[in-house]
Amino acid sequence: MKPGSSVDDLGVFFEGWHAEVATRAAAVAGDWAVDLDADDRARTHEAAQALAAAGLLAYCVPQRFGGAAVGRPDGVDARALTLIREALGWADGLLDTAFAMQGLGSHPITLAGSEAQKARYLPGVMAGARLGAFCLTEPEAGSDVASMRCRARRDGDRYVIDGEKAWISNAGVAGQYVVFATVDPAAGRRGITAFVVEPDDPGLTVEPMEVIAPHPIGRLRFAGCAIPVERRLGAEGAGFKLAMRTLDVFRTTVGGAALGMARRALDEGLARALGRVQFGEPIFEQQQIAAYLAESATELDAARLLVFRAAHLRDTADRRVSTEVAMGKLFATEAAQRIIDRAVQIHGGLGVTRGSAVERLYREIRALRIYEGTSEIQRVVIAAGLKAGRG
Ligand SMILES: Cc1cc2nc3c(=O)[nH]c(=O)nc-3n(C[C@H](O)[C@H](O)[C@H](O)COP(=O)(O)OP(=O)(O)OC[C@H]3O[C@@H](n4cnc5c(N)ncnc54)[C@H](O)[C@@H]3O)c2cc1C
Repeated sequence: MKPGSSVDDLGVFFEGWHAEVATRAAAVAGDWAVDLDADDRARTHEAAQALAAAGLLAYCVPQRFGGAAVGRPDGVDARALTLIREALGWADGLLDTAFAMQGLGSHPITLAGSEAQKARYLPGVMAGARLGAFCLTEPEAGSDVASMRCRARRDGDRYVIDGEKAWISNAGVAGQYVVFATVDPAAGRRGITAFVVEPDDPGLTVEPMEVIAPHPIGRLRFAGCAIPVERRLGAEGAGFKLAMRTLDVFRTTVGGAALGMARRALDEGLARALGRVQFGEPIFEQQQIAAYLAESATELDAARLLVFRAAHLRDTADRRVSTEVAMGKLFATEAAQRIIDRAVQIHGGLGVTRGSAVERLYREIRALRIYEGTSEIQRVVIAAGLKAGRG
C-alpha cells in the first residue's frame, strides 16, 4: 500500500512542479511509522524534524522570505500544501497536524509581520525548530469568533493580555503562539488584533487537553501577560481579517488531509475485502461489500475534484473563493467520515479493535468536521455565497 497522493488524474488543476511535491510528500508518508503509545508532544517534534528534513515545511513560507512557496501575493501555493496534507493524512493524523500547524501558525506572520518579525520567526518554522500555534477559539467563542473575550490593553510600550484560549493545537510545544485578542470588545470583529506570544512570556500558562485521537492540544491562560508592542501583528483591529485570510488557505488543506485519510480507508477496506474469506470466498464477492467500496471510490474522486478545484481557484482566480473552499472542506470531510465508516464495517470486529488502521482513522477524521469551521459553518458560508450570487 502506498500513500495516495498523485497529480496524474487531475492534471488540469496542477503545474509541472506539483508532481515533485506530491512525490516528496508521499516518500515522507511512506517512511513514517505510526506509534500510538508514544507521547503526542515528543512525536510532534519528531514529525516536524522529518518534514523539515524533506524540505516540505519550506512550502509554508514564500520564496521571497526564504521558503519554497511561490504564487499569490501572499506567496503560498494552496495546491502544494493540499497535496502534502493528502499524503500525510494517509499515513498519520499526527504527522499531518505537525505540518498543518507550521503553516497555520506562521501564515499570519507571512501576511502581516514586520521584517523583524519575519526574520525572528519564519526560519525556525521552516527548520521545524519553532513549532507554530494559531489561537482563536475560546471557551465561550468558537464558531462566533467575533464574540471573543480575550483582552489586550495597551500600556505604554507593551500590551497586557488577559483571558483564555481553548482547543489550541500545539499548546505546550509551540515556540510561537499567534494570539487573537480584542483591544475593544465593543467594536466586535473590528477590535480583534493579532499578537505573537512566546512560551516563556510571563503570565502565560498552558494546560493540556485530551481529544479522541493523538493530537497535542490544550488551553492557554493569560493573566497580565505583558508583551512588547513590537509583537503586534499588523494594525490594531486588523486581526479578524488576518484570521479569515489565513483560514481561506488552510481550510482547503483540511480537505486535503481528509482525502488522504479517506484514501487510506479505501485501501485498507479493499485489501481486507479481497483477503478475508467467509462462506468459502473473499467477502469482496458479496455484492453489498463491493458496493460499499464502489461508493467510497466514487465519493473520494468527487471530493478530490472539489478540493483541488478550490485549491486551484485559490491559487489562480482574481476573486474571493470562500464558497468553493467551503464546499471542498464540507464535502471532503463528510465524505471521508462515510468512507472510513464503511471501511470499519468491512473489517467487522477488527474494525473497532484498538490498533487497527481503520479504528485509528475513525477517531482521526472526526475533528476535521469541527476545526477551522464546522460543517454547519461551511454551509453558512456556501449559503451566503449563493445569496450574493456567487453560487
Ligand atoms: C482537534 C481540534 C483542534 C483544534 N485546533 C484549534 C486551533 O489550533 N486553534 C483554534 O483557534 N481552535 C482550534 N480548535 C477549535 C475549533 O476551531 C472549534 O472547536 C470550532 O470552531 C467550533 O467551535 P466550538 O467548539 O466552540 O463549537 P460551537 O461554536 O459551540 O458549535 C457547537 C455546534 O453548534 C453549531 N453552530 C454554531 N453556530 C452555528 C451557526 N451559525 N449555524 C449553524 N450551526 C451552528 C456548530 O456547527 C456545532 O455543531 C480545534 C478543535 C479541535 C477539535
